[in-house]
Amino acid sequence: MQVRRWLAELAWLPGMGHAAGSRLQGAHAAGSRLQGALRRDVLIEASGERFTVVEPDVPVGDATRLRGLTLPGLANAHSHAFHRALRGITQADKGTFWTWRERMYQVAARLDPDSYFRLARAVYAEMTLAGVTCVGEFHYLHHQPGGMSYSDPNAMGQALVAAAAEAGLRITLLDTCYLAGGLERDGLVPLSGLQLRFGDGDGAGWAGRMSSHRFDEHGMISAGARLGAAIHSVRAVPPEQMGPVVAWARRYGAPLHVHLSEQLAENEACVAVYGVSPARLLYDEEALGPRTSVVHATHVSAGDVRLLGGVQAFACICPTTERDLGDGLAPASELMAAGCRLTLGSDSHAVIDMFEEARGVEYAERLARQARGIFAAPSLMGALTSDGHTSLGWPEAGQIEPGAWADLITVSLGSVRTAGTSGGDYAVEAAVFAATAADVSDVVISGRDVVRDGVHLHVPDVAGELSAAIGELR
Ligand SMILES: [Zn+2]
Repeated sequence: MQVRRWLAELAWLPGMGHAAGSRLQGAHAAGSRLQGALRRDVLIEASGERFTVVEPDVPVGDATRLRGLTLPGLANAHSHAFHRALRGITQADKGTFWTWRERMYQVAARLDPDSYFRLARAVYAEMTLAGVTCVGEFHYLHHQPGGMSYSDPNAMGQALVAAAAEAGLRITLLDTCYLAGGLERDGLVPLSGLQLRFGDGDGAGWAGRMSSHRFDEHGMISAGARLGAAIHSVRAVPPEQMGPVVAWARRYGAPLHVHLSEQLAENEACVAVYGVSPARLLYDEEALGPRTSVVHATHVSAGDVRLLGGVQAFACICPTTERDLGDGLAPASELMAAGCRLTLGSDSHAVIDMFEEARGVEYAERLARQARGIFAAPSLMGALTSDGHTSLGWPEAGQIEPGAWADLITVSLGSVRTAGTSGGDYAVEAAVFAATAADVSDVVISGRDVVRDGVHLHVPDVAGELSAAIGELR
């Protein structure tokens, strides 16, 4: 097995928030600085795909020098790869979430497995350049226009898995059950038009298609890809059809993701039709638990917050998308206080910059509360790394320590954005509150270089591939 050694000028070694990292002391409270978590001259050694040695205060030797701040790989816990094709063009209209959704459907209508592969490969390459080492792809574009299956019913999902492999990052394919076109006050609306591509008929149809993926008893598709489950939302799946999805996730110990209360209209229709909130409906169908991620959780009540915290669900907040769509502000600090764990996603890819997602949570709290310092940089970094990976079914990724997957990224502290911010002591604050995706210089995934000096080693012209792939769809 290949042994590699790096010497990181500064490395963030998480202290708490996951059992494996509990050796370092003083890192308990979100909101307090993680004393001792930022270390200098850290020797990091990997044998094959895993870290074997992590040792601070080592004098310079023959290891590869990493200049700047070295962090665990970042997890992007919520992605719809094809939404990247909408960047910019949807900013010219006023519109609403619902008019934006119409534009999104127009793009989706033109995709097939080959064009989706080309687009996703470029989007995932953009993510790796931004320091993302694992993506949770919330995938519902399953079938041909009109709803007929491809000859391989999972051709679209496999295109995404192949795209991630070529871009060099890990993927959790969150294969999504999507059965209805919407929920109105008088009931579910059937799928129509472009939405016919999303549907499997019923929960059993979804489960049947799931069984034709190639995966092992742990839900692994390959060493770098795993299968997870998703319920699109209470707008798209009636409660009596949720059982097969919940059962599948339970059987394989897999992540279960669901969009929750992104819009007030969803809550109003859910109460009108079912008499309960979307969170309560999911709870009653046993869809909520410690492997569940609720995405957005924008318009949740105090009672919903108690339910979600009580089961220790992950709350996946997507600030750049939520502000782009005018969704509203999730009660992030209440969710965390109740017991939820925070994760972050770039969702519609209005931008792909996980630091911007992280500070977006804190800045929303500041504006809402007229107070600062609700989520400190280290706790936001924990959401981006260990908690994000755990929510995607990779609990041994997202921390730099022996035994973990050998993923690391380095953020330049000498760019025009980050120069002079830290002198080292505040490097994590500088990364979360001042760095951008463009400051990620190096990315290592499973012990292999994927990005070096800001250049993707497998996809040499990411911008060119993005324009070509999106140009095809216009
Ligand atoms: Zn989404």
